[in-house]
Formats: sequence, structure tokens, C-alpha cells
Amino acid sequence: MQVGLSNPTCTFLWENWEMEKHDVLILGGGPSGLSTALHLAKAAPHLTPRILILEKEHYPRLKLCAGGLVIDAEVILERLGLDTSEVPHVDAEDIRFDFAGRGLTVRVPKRHAIRVIRRDEFDAWLAEKARSRGIEIREGVSIKKVIPNENGVTVETDQGNFHATIIVGADGSNGITRRCIFPNEPVYTARVLEVLTPSHQHRPSGTFSEFGGGREGSAFFDFFPVPNNIAGYTWDFPTQVNGTLMRCWGVYDTNLLADQKRPALKEPLAEEMKRHGFELGDYEIKGHPIRWYSPWNKASMPRVLLVGDAVGADPVFGEGISIALGYGVIAAQEIAESFQRGEFSFGRYKRRLVRSGLGQTLFARWLISQVIYTLKWKWFQILLWRILKPFVLLAAWIFVLNWSKRIPLRN
Ligand SMILES: Cc1cc2nc3c(=O)[nH]c(=O)nc-3n(C[C@H](O)[C@H](O)[C@H](O)COP(=O)(O)OP(=O)(O)OC[C@H]3O[C@@H](n4cnc5c(N)ncnc54)[C@H](O)[C@@H]3O)c2cc1C
Repeated sequence: MQVGLSNPTCTFLWENWEMEKHDVLILGGGPSGLSTALHLAKAAPHLTPRILILEKEHYPRLKLCAGGLVIDAEVILERLGLDTSEVPHVDAEDIRFDFAGRGLTVRVPKRHAIRVIRRDEFDAWLAEKARSRGIEIREGVSIKKVIPNENGVTVETDQGNFHATIIVGADGSNGITRRCIFPNEPVYTARVLEVLTPSHQHRPSGTFSEFGGGREGSAFFDFFPVPNNIAGYTWDFPTQVNGTLMRCWGVYDTNLLADQKRPALKEPLAEEMKRHGFELGDYEIKGHPIRWYSPWNKASMPRVLLVGDAVGADPVFGEGISIALGYGVIAAQEIAESFQRGEFSFGRYKRRLVRSGLGQTLFARWLISQVIYTLKWKWFQILLWRILKPFVLLAAWIFVLNWSKRIPLRN
């Protein structure tokens, strides 16, 4: 704010004096930002009143996402004493990984295979939990620019400027933080489309489509688009909207085969939906990119840490909720130790990340994505999903699931 001081130096000092100051500013109140705050409050309770989360929307806010929570997400939240069953959800008992309708089934002993939430409800619930633990969240504040310097970081927003000792960029795949601090970094993004439909399709004959006949309790991934250079899959999950059972459909493409001739992204989605009696054209299609993890993605610079999609989600499936929660664990440990030392270079953050269970699964998933989506031939996809079942299941168990148990939690 400028108050009639004509000397430019005075103006600068006055502006800085007027700026709201915080030790830890978290930019973005999605799962990665909220998890960072919750874990930091647990690891270093004295920092809790010094944390501020800035979120541009108001909860419950829309977030395009199928809302599939894998077990690692629940494990991380359980260790914070949070129970996702408080959030409206639908549990799928098994997950099918198919090529053109046939493949392998994953079940988890004595548990659901995947829990499906709606992100407006889930994120609002998590934000409420953070608030109940003393963390301040300011809604309706949009970040415009991030300017780190030797003594801290200036954050320009539509509600004035803030000054922080450190900031955490948790503002998602299109986030401003990463773009401000690494403007020239290559970006690996997947394209994703999503559609919500009723749970059953009523056929003109008056009968229900086959969804009525047993698919409702399962989540499906089908990799049939890969030979056509869509390096991803179609999905359909059970979900609920305001208590009504629905179905969430979508298509994910890593863009790994972007240099090849590809059909329009909605074509495989329309094909899959038609197979089950739904017309894509009857429903609203929404799209959003997902920035995925590559080992070369940068994660920090002095006084700035990135978490969640700002660093990168899982490249194989675009699965990012559990991953975002996991980034929060690692970032909180790094921040707590930095405040103990009074040193904020964050030079060790990437190494800490890479060595953790989260870093290991992200690396494994990056490697898997490079193999399964570039060896795109039909015979290879059939071999993978239908014939090599035990090996694929073992690899998934070791490299894809259960990584959250390999992140040590410090109190
Ligand atoms: C179509 C689709 C389906 C998906 N399905 C699944 C799924 O089933 N399971 C799964 O695990 N993952 C899924 N994902 C991925 C998942 O949604 C993300 O990985 C996850 O949301 C990442 O969390 P985050 O906290 O890093 O970012 P986000 O959830 O994007 O949160 C970022 C937050 O920052 C705020 N923000 C952004 N810009 C600003 C700004 N300038 N100023 C202030 N605030 C700002 C946003 O409003 C938001 O609240 C899906 C993604 C898409 C697009």
C-alpha cells in the first residue's frame, strides 16, 4: 500500500512494513497443502500459529477428480487420527485392470480396494480438520506472483501482499508458484476428460444396461486405447453425488505418444461408454491436465518447497490424492528441521523425497509408464493385462501400493 511517500526507497520500506508477515505460507488448500499443514502442526506444534494457508476458492469448492482414494491415502490420514469414512463415499470391492474388457482383478484382504469420494466434500472435510487443529486458512485469496529473495518470500495476491519466511507451493498442476520459480522447466502433463452419469442406464426397451448386473461394486481401468496412441486408459468408478449413486467415467492420456497420430481424446471414452449403454453426447464432459512426476522435475529452491501436483502426480494412472498427502508428510519434516536449524535452503528436500517410500513409488511408476505406454502394441497389452497376471500383481504390490508405510512419521 502506498501512502503518499514520494521517495522510492521510503515507499518500498513502507510497503514491506505494511505487508502481512507469516513464517509458513502454504499456497493452495488442496490435499497437498492441507497435508503439509497438518503434518507440520503434528511434527512442530509451536509452528501451528505461524502457518497460513491461502486458498483462492471457498470450500466446498469444485475440483475435477474421480475421487478414487487408494489405501495409502487412508493410511496417511489414519496416522493423523482422521477417518475418511466421515466423508460421503462409495467403496469399490475390487479394481479391474483390463485390455478390451478382459484382464486382472485386484482385491485387498478384509478391506475395500478403493474408496471413492467427491473432492468438494473431501477437501472441505480436510480443511475443517486442519482448522480444528488451529491452522488458519484464508479462503478467496488468489496468488498472483511469488518473489523469493535472501530474507524471505513476497507473495502478491488479489488481497494484498504477504511476506513469509518460507512458502509451500501447493497450488496444483497449473500452479503459479512453480511457474514463477521455474519458468523454463519442461512440463510433463497428461490430458484427462471426465463425465458423470447415472449409475444405471435405462434402455429404450425398459431394461437396465449390464451395469445393473454386478459391475456397480467395481472400479474399472481399460487400457484398450494404448495401441491407438492414447498412452493411458479409460476408467469407470462407482461414486455418489448428494447421496445418489452415480458412475464416474473418464479417459487419461499421459501424452507419451503425442508425436504419433491419435484419435480425439473423447473417442475412446465414447466407445467405452457405448459398450455399457451410455451415450457420451448426453452428458457434460469436463477436462483438466495432470502434471506428472518425472525424476527431473524440480521440487524446491531456497525458501520455496513444492508439493503435490506442483511437483508431479503418478504418471501411470494420474493418481494424485494419496501422493499429494504423502508429499505433505515429507515437506513437513523438511520444514520442521529447517526451522530448528534456522536455515532454509531446502537443498535436502529432493533427496529426502527420492529416498522415501513416496519417491520410490513415484520413480517406479515413472519407469512403468515409460514401458507400458511406449510398448503400445496390442499383443504386448494383452500379454501384460491378461497373461502375466501374477507378475503384474506382484510388481503392483511391491512398487505401486503400500508405500505410505515406508514414510517414517516423526512426532
Ligand atoms: C479428471 C481427473 C480425475 C482424477 N482422478 C483422480 C483419482 O481418482 N484419484 C486420485 O488419487 N487422483 C485423481 N486425480 C488427480 C488429483 O486430483 C490430483 O493429483 C490432486 O488433486 C493433487 O492435489 P494438490 O493438492 O497437489 O492440488 P489440487 O487438488 O489441485 O489443489 C490445489 C489447490 O490450490 C488452489 N489454487 C490454485 N491456484 C491458486 C492460486 N493462484 N491462488 C490460491 N489458490 C490456488 C486450488 O483452488 C486448489 O484448492 C484426478 C485428476 C483429474 C484432473
